[in-house]
Amino acid sequence: MIQSEPLTKLFPGGARAAQPVEKTYSGPMMNIEALSKVFTMGENKVYALNNVSLSIEKGEMLAIMGPSGSGKSTLMSIVGCLDVPTSGTYVLDGSPVEKMNDRQLAEVRNRKIGFVFQQFNLLSRTSALENVLLPMSYTNLSARSSREKAIRALELVGLEKRMKHHPSELSGGQQQRVAIARALVNDPAILIADEPTGALDSKTGAEIMELFQNLHRDYGQTVIMVTHDAFVARHTGRIIRLADGKIISDALNPNPIKAGTPRPDAET
Ligand code: ADP
Ligand code: MG
Repeated sequence: MIQSEPLTKLFPGGARAAQPVEKTYSGPMMNIEALSKVFTMGENKVYALNNVSLSIEKGEMLAIMGPSGSGKSTLMSIVGCLDVPTSGTYVLDGSPVEKMNDRQLAEVRNRKIGFVFQQFNLLSRTSALENVLLPMSYTNLSARSSREKAIRALELVGLEKRMKHHPSELSGGQQQRVAIARALVNDPAILIADEPTGALDSKTGAEIMELFQNLHRDYGQTVIMVTHDAFVARHTGRIIRLADGKIISDALNPNPIKAGTPRPDAET
């Protein structure tokens, strides 16, 4: 399988999963062409995605917007290698994903994608550290290296001092930080966040946006964020809007809002 260089700055010092690199791929990180996803409901066909083309470079931070039912989750599940399209192509980091079977999808997902959800989705009966260790149980890292990486990931989100705490002993913002550490721990090519601030108050949401902006700026982390909030979207460098399964606009946002900037009165 062709792979690009892994991110090297997130985990300096080599404590990373062994990843054979056969050849360095130099195209876009993600290239989607003429992609459709059709759900058949009895006699009816629902085009959840209808002829979508999209290219994302390594290190971009962008937002996906659109009304409910416009195809955002379907697009994220294909981008995140949870599902394959009905037609069209998706090349991730040089590998054609649309042809993969479930086992191959799971492998790519575990190695290249980090997911962050609105409701954090942490295991409640285990510590922050154990939650972050979980994605590494599928790698061949030693227990010691895994632990070092998990602690490093918790440091990246500023929570290393809380690593023994269970989710119920953490605030919502802290739980989301643990979820982000868990998403980062395998050094993913793409971090996908589905409404990551949707369950948080505005101040905590701004702290989470600041963390994403820092990961993007300092480590070149690629971040794709789904949001229905135009103010949140304007914290990213590119805004893609979906409607009825199609991209209706795809525009650069050359001056992203710095996290912590108050929301304009008209938008509250
Ligand atoms: P969004 O996340 O923007 O709200 P979705 O991607 O969830 O939109 O859904 C897009 C369209 O596809 C909707 O009409 C939805 O009802 C339909 N859809 C999504 N998943 C399925 C499924 N598993 N079976 C049938 N229809 C689906
Ligand atoms: Mg959705």
